[in-house]
Amino acid sequence: MENPASNARREFLGNLAALGAAGLAGCSGLPFGRGDGLPGRGEFVIRDAYVMTMDAAGDLPGADVHVRNGVIVAVGRDLQAGGAPVIVGRGMIVLPGLVETHWHMWNALLRSMSGDKREHGYFPTALNLGKAYVPDDMYQGTRLGAAEAIHSGITTVHDWCHNIRGPEYAAENLRALREAGIRARFSYGAAQGQPGDQPIDLADLARLQRDWKAQSNDGLIALGLAWRGPSTGATGSVAAAAYRKDFDTARALGIPVSVHANNRATGTIALLARDGFLGKDVQVIHATWVSPEEIAALAGSGASVSLSPYSELRIGFGFPPTGDFLAARIPVGLSVDTTALSGNADMFAIMKAIQNIENSRARDEFKLPARRVLELATIEGARSLGMDDRIGSLKPGKRADLIMVNTREVNLAVFSEPAHMLVEAAQPANVDTVIVDGRILKRRGKLTSLDTEQIAGEASAALAALRKRAGWW
Ligand SMILES: [Zn+2]
Repeated sequence: MENPASNARREFLGNLAALGAAGLAGCSGLPFGRGDGLPGRGEFVIRDAYVMTMDAAGDLPGADVHVRNGVIVAVGRDLQAGGAPVIVGRGMIVLPGLVETHWHMWNALLRSMSGDKREHGYFPTALNLGKAYVPDDMYQGTRLGAAEAIHSGITTVHDWCHNIRGPEYAAENLRALREAGIRARFSYGAAQGQPGDQPIDLADLARLQRDWKAQSNDGLIALGLAWRGPSTGATGSVAAAAYRKDFDTARALGIPVSVHANNRATGTIALLARDGFLGKDVQVIHATWVSPEEIAALAGSGASVSLSPYSELRIGFGFPPTGDFLAARIPVGLSVDTTALSGNADMFAIMKAIQNIENSRARDEFKLPARRVLELATIEGARSLGMDDRIGSLKPGKRADLIMVNTREVNLAVFSEPAHMLVEAAQPANVDTVIVDGRILKRRGKLTSLDTEQIAGEASAALAALRKRAGWW
């Protein structure tokens, strides 16, 4: 069997050769930077694309984007880019990479496994299989999730890791994120089935933070807390003393906090507000049961909200009240949550669901415009994670996270209204090119550094062994 690394390298070089006129001569530094399997951050210019900056500059038809060493150098028409290799942008929409804001990536091994009976629902499935995970399963699940993210045009993920059964589980999860080259916040959480009277492994959290340089992939990965809070999950409620200790430790370390608010009644967010658990450093997930007073508390605190329509709809949490949060000027991000429920990680479908649900709730065709939804998936999602100074729009000085969508595909032709095309018609398969921090991770529809066939094969084998260990069929 061939070494997949050499496969990937050959394919990447093939892609580089396809970059165009400048060829490899101007590509010094592009292929494979540090022997870690990731492409290097070189210099290139995308020419003659429909560029959606998602910034004050607006949309620029027939424009260029010049990238050097991971940074956007310039955006505009007829850019002078020296001898930089050219990526032909004609027929493509270029926009910021999609920003995902809450995803249990270890769950990718459990795709579509939430069953049709109560005992096979999402929570018992994640609990029973999660308890049987070995560290390599965390690697396999997260790597599969990261590969799907890159395939789908997602350049940033918030990996909400709530199955850390020991330090090696976090380590394997982080390894998968590093190898994929994706931008991420990794939020450290409890193990599935962890007793509710115990704090998480706070010493390991502090150790990871001290050591973070070794984990961060040159600043691509940040650390957060996947906080259990007062929500009740499959394993029952968490004692207030335990969740307070987790929270206070994260605050003291300066680590951002994220918490689910999916109890089937309003009151969770009121409790968070009452006990001083809201703030600019806090993200609240779902919040589908929310009172006007709770919306005001979120807005007043500066907390953000993450909405994942395909888990909220599938599990019956109810409709995301997107318009209510936006009206209160609460930062809103969109999320995958778990492919055990959502099936896939299609951010285009997520955008479409968010728009359609809001318009239907309001019985108003014009309630949530496509461009506003596209903002939630790019610049507003970045803002909700506190990353909008670095990513989320195409602006000189920002990190080069961007995607190219091929508008000549049959489900996207004809070129009409670009924001509507992306929200209503586009699919992951239309994503031609994905660039994260200046590294080309997908080109001409194929991942450049991850071998998807190998990843799917190894993940399938891991799942088969996991089901056997857990006795779960
Ligand atoms: Zn979740």
